[in-house]
Amino acid sequence: MMKRPARILVTGGAGFLGSHVCERLLLEGHDILCVDNFSSGSKRNIAHLLGHPRFELLRHDVSFPLYVEVDEIYNLACPASPPQYQQDPVQTTKTSVHGAIHLLGLARRTGARLLQASTSEVYGDPVCHPQREDYWGHVNPVGPRACYDEGKRCAETLCMDYRRRHGLCVKVARIFNTYGPRMLADDGRVVSNFVVQALTGRALTVFGNGRQTRSFCYVDDLVDGLLRLMASADDFCGPVNLGNPVESTMLELARKVIALTGSGAAIDFAPLPVDDPARRRPDISLAQQRLSWQPAVSLHDGLEKTIDYFRGLLPPEPPQPPASRPPAPGWLAVGQAPSPSRLRH
Ligand code: NAD
Ligand code: UDP
Repeated sequence: MMKRPARILVTGGAGFLGSHVCERLLLEGHDILCVDNFSSGSKRNIAHLLGHPRFELLRHDVSFPLYVEVDEIYNLACPASPPQYQQDPVQTTKTSVHGAIHLLGLARRTGARLLQASTSEVYGDPVCHPQREDYWGHVNPVGPRACYDEGKRCAETLCMDYRRRHGLCVKVARIFNTYGPRMLADDGRVVSNFVVQALTGRALTVFGNGRQTRSFCYVDDLVDGLLRLMASADDFCGPVNLGNPVESTMLELARKVIALTGSGAAIDFAPLPVDDPARRRPDISLAQQRLSWQPAVSLHDGLEKTIDYFRGLLPPEPPQPPASRPPAPGWLAVGQAPSPSRLRH
């Protein structure tokens, strides 16, 4: 989207979203420096980019300073799955807060523009529905999600202060639940959990009564929104919601995944995690007005692509005598205890 090739730093570039951002920016002719500490990302996500002459990879933790020359920074480094960001909560806060300070410092020194990957979690368990950018949120500052929510809120504060005090060109994207190929099979997020469970014939784990809602955006749409935001007018800093406004309950999602995979999997109910938001749906009017952006991929189509991806991670079906050949989806042997460990990483 930039007119001339730029040197672009993508932190968290080996993660789910980051790897797609790197790929899109390479396709547009830019030089990419992918920085990642591989805490929740995977080399597998960027293996196909490693030989590219305009792609470089650096193992680095963004909570420490980084000195490189770049024109643009996409700051995506941070675990996004609740089980992962709660595993080492202090490191999660450091990643968001120290990471933002170091990368904003880098942007100040180099004159680069910086896009901050913020989140719908800044709205907490929202009282206003759907969520508009001018809603200040309803976050528990001392709960188990706070390391992520408050870390991201503070990163937004830092972006706006660097803009006001130092005139930096910053862009804050509030990303709503995004899914697609290259999510980790076992990072605990709902779409990957349900798809892997359905494909391996295990019961889908619906937390609570399954009536809580989320609005799911397919990764290609989200990446398109991020690139448009980075290319937007200097005076537009956001925050801006990026997400798909079509809302589903988790029970509806589970049923849809079962239907699309053709799985005979059951649904199990498990306790609702503490502070799990009851409803979430973005108001995307601002993105529509300022970025001419709105999602194009339906949940049905996006889930099909995601299911195909996870199916491709499964080992080939072992040869079996015709009499014991199992029913569709085909590669589950009767009586076999399916588990995500059957998936190749
Ligand atoms: P992800 O966990 O797949 O990717 C995050 C990447 O950051 C990983 O590769 C991880 O190894 C890396 N990372 C983590 N801590 C780091 C550190 N200290 N230094 C360097 N690298 C580090 O998650 P994702 O879904 O790709 O999310 C990317 C960004 O988008 C995150 O900032 C997340 O908060 C934000 N976001 C994502 C969603 C979503 O639904 N996917 C929603 C809201 C916000
Ligand atoms: N969830 C669920 N089963 C799972 C994983 C998650 O029902 O196996 C629920 C979770 O409680 C939440 C929703 O799905 O209500 C989205 O969870 P996710 O961790 O993907 O994202 P977030 O809570 O950060 O929106």
